[in-house]
Amino acid sequence: MNIEVIKFGGSSLADASKIKNVAKIINQKTQNETNVIVVVSAMGNSTDTLISLAKEMSNDPNHREMDVLLSTGEIVTSTLLSMHLNYSGTPSISLTGTQAGIRTDDVYGRAKIAEIDGSRIKEELKTKKVVVIAGFQGFSDKQDVTTLGRGGSDTTAVALAVALKARICEIYTDVSGVYTADPRICQNAIPLKQIGYEEMLELATTGARVISARAVEVAAINNMPIIVKNTFDSKQSGTIIQTESNMENINKVRGIAHQQKVGKITIKGVPDSPGIASSVFRPLAEANIAVDTIVQNSSSDNLTDLTFTVSIEDLVAAEKVSNSIVKNIGAKEIDSADDVGSVSIVGTGMTSSPGYAATMFEALYNKQVNIEIISTSEIRITCVVKQSNVTKAVQALHDAFKLDVE
Ligand code: ASP
Ligand code: MG
Repeated sequence: MNIEVIKFGGSSLADASKIKNVAKIINQKTQNETNVIVVVSAMGNSTDTLISLAKEMSNDPNHREMDVLLSTGEIVTSTLLSMHLNYSGTPSISLTGTQAGIRTDDVYGRAKIAEIDGSRIKEELKTKKVVVIAGFQGFSDKQDVTTLGRGGSDTTAVALAVALKARICEIYTDVSGVYTADPRICQNAIPLKQIGYEEMLELATTGARVISARAVEVAAINNMPIIVKNTFDSKQSGTIIQTESNMENINKVRGIAHQQKVGKITIKGVPDSPGIASSVFRPLAEANIAVDTIVQNSSSDNLTDLTFTVSIEDLVAAEKVSNSIVKNIGAKEIDSADDVGSVSIVGTGMTSSPGYAATMFEALYNKQVNIEIISTSEIRITCVVKQSNVTKAVQALHDAFKLDVE
């Protein structure tokens, strides 16, 4: 079977006329011999609306109920789209995550896909229907509904593409692909024709919101090519994410990612002895808090400061855990900040060329942007800066690395 999985984000499905527009794109796809599986997000910001409603019911809504509630957002779009496809002459059926056979673990709100039983989907495809699947959800061993975490529909799409051996996974969104920087804050950002998995993963984990990092990870492991395209300008070729073959791109900065807000925590007066770092980061991991940048200063008088960043959503929980850590390890106190953000440059082969770090720091210095924390991977350099400097920093780096010419 020649299968394509195509996914539409919430902004592409934000109202009835947009849903009809999506149906048109799907109609065109079915003109050739392609079997189409569609994965949908919830309408516009409806997931946020559901979360606010739940918080009006309880300040800590029951996680099981929350997942059932949030899963309904995607069920709304899948059913509406399927209705219109059928009405406009394209036979279609909608399936919830459970009906589509997407089995997950039982971690509500952040479930991981364990296995996909694609038999129902294949049955429907055989009858020449377009199968529209509600993204972002699955079911646990207890037959409870689970959700995959914010932005989880991308992961649904890529995982389905892998499980059903699709040719490709197309992600439709409201911009024309993966840009050299966020086009909303960088005027001369341009879409990339292609990018490798590794670079895309670094960009996505450090703030590029065009596709979720988890989806890129699943694609990379399974070598599934992804195309990111614009729903409102589907003639544009978009960006292909795949194993990088273009040697020319080595040693170039490919893109800049930013996070407008991150949370920063410093544990002060930490005793400098073996095992301390693990006693700090184990409890954070157990609380399901992902830590980004970690810096440990050199110690004086056998005491050191340990600073790390977390996503802004996790800051309150991280503060709570850190306070209990302080007591356990005999540290002094914690200091937390929510007025910082981050900027990152990403490109393969960066480590072999030390000039990149210098150029980055110079560009920031020229704009009087103070760097609070620096962290690096083989193909990325990230600087934590004040929130008020993030936009300025992105533009300065885009200019310094001349990313407006491909
Ligand atoms: N609707 C969910 C969210 O807003 C999942 C998604 O859009 O992929 O996070
Ligand atoms: Mg969404």
